[in-house]
Amino acid sequence: MTNRSSMDRSTYLGQDEAARLKTILEGTRAGTWEWNVQTGETVFNERWARIIGYTLEELQPISIETWLRYAHPDDLERSEQRLQAHFRGETDYYECEARMRHRDGHWVWVRDYGRLVSRTADGDPEWMSGTHIDISAAKQYQQQLEAVQAEQLETIERLEKMAATIPGVIYQFEMQPDGFMSFPYASAGIERIYGVRPDQVRQDASLVFDKIHPDDFPHVRDTIEASRASGEDWSCEYRVVVNGEVRWVFGQSRPEFRDNGSILWHGAILDISAQKALEEKLRQIATTDELTGAANRRQFMELLSREYQRYRRNGPPYAVILFDFDWFKQVNDRFGHNAGDMVLKETTGLVQDSLRATDTFARIGGEEFAILLPDSDEDSARHLAERLRHSLSKHSFTGPVGGIRGSITCGIAVSCEHDNDAKNIMLRADTALYAGKAAGRNRVVVYDRSLTQTPRHADD
Ligand code: GH3
Ligand code: MG
Ligand code: MG
Repeated sequence: MTNRSSMDRSTYLGQDEAARLKTILEGTRAGTWEWNVQTGETVFNERWARIIGYTLEELQPISIETWLRYAHPDDLERSEQRLQAHFRGETDYYECEARMRHRDGHWVWVRDYGRLVSRTADGDPEWMSGTHIDISAAKQYQQQLEAVQAEQLETIERLEKMAATIPGVIYQFEMQPDGFMSFPYASAGIERIYGVRPDQVRQDASLVFDKIHPDDFPHVRDTIEASRASGEDWSCEYRVVVNGEVRWVFGQSRPEFRDNGSILWHGAILDISAQKALEEKLRQIATTDELTGAANRRQFMELLSREYQRYRRNGPPYAVILFDFDWFKQVNDRFGHNAGDMVLKETTGLVQDSLRATDTFARIGGEEFAILLPDSDEDSARHLAERLRHSLSKHSFTGPVGGIRGSITCGIAVSCEHDNDAKNIMLRADTALYAGKAAGRNRVVVYDRSLTQTPRHADD
């Protein structure tokens, strides 16, 4: 470095101004430095020395070497690059954060802010001055913040990995005070549930709500509203329709009430279609008769009981038709048990084709069936029973030798306001059926009080 300095310090700063600035800077507890790039002459204030635990006196003799000695070697390189950039005129200020070795041995973070204030006649950088402040506390805070953020990212990554293994999406769902909704975060699995990508719903949740089955939408909306109002977790089972395909999902999330008035729900939505299909199958197995596919006795009694309850609450009257095959033992004896089974299956098909969607047809015993007719009276039940009896007696059931013929006897009973149990109507229908058998079979008998009440089965 050749000495081409054309000014000393007091020349580039007017004396008054220098004193004023010094006062201001001391007020900010900032260290100050002035440096002659050409000669290496350096001036620090007391504070500069105190930041690293020394008095200015102890650091004497001071030169630019003093800075180079205490600064962290790894940070000096960055400092040098920034200085050069500033000297070349690429930056308005020199700005750098660096570590310095404190007298006690630990590192202190400082932030320097400086500016070239004069150049030599040749245009080379000459005097430079700047401030030097201790930012250790801020740095520590920032490092903690970064650690927390890194941890959050790690958590999200871990969740993403976990989410990839479950049939669903983990998400944050936000509702603004004005009701506007969005998914600030959704894992990639949202595509599997709603057929949309996370970035498509980050700003606006409507694409997701469009996919909810119209019959389930009010329920989803009401449960979200209930969670908003009560602060309780949201949980809901509903259907989603994506490209015409319906699937069942289960969602659960916890609301967080934020200072800005918005609510952020954190949760997950799982595809439970397979589980629902299994449930449906189990329900099917539990409620239907295996041989014929008609409802089973348990299901019939369940539906009868509901009809009875409805009737008790001023619902419409209803009727029950019971029927039993005539001489069915002979069918088995002549054509075999399998042929008998076929007759029962075909009967089921024929009867079901004659019923309304609201009627229930059940196999309640070996070759004994029951029909529940909601909103029906004696006459309509009798007409239906006659029609069935007639068509079954004319039907040729599939069998080994050119078809099997058979007939049924029907007993009918209607709801009665004196009933105190759903089963009462079954006893009456059974009494009518028994009377029909006794009177010669292949006929329809409607219960009336003159019939002897002798139930054929104790369990009816
Ligand atoms: P009735 O006119 O008095 O009803 O005479 P029935 O021979 O039909 O007598 P009942 O109703 O008492 O007997 C039913 C017979 O139906 C007994 C049994 O052999 C037969 N059966 C019951 N369940 C089945 C079944 O699942 N498959 C077959 N093939 N036969 C059955
Ligand atoms: Mg029979
Ligand atoms: Mg029988």
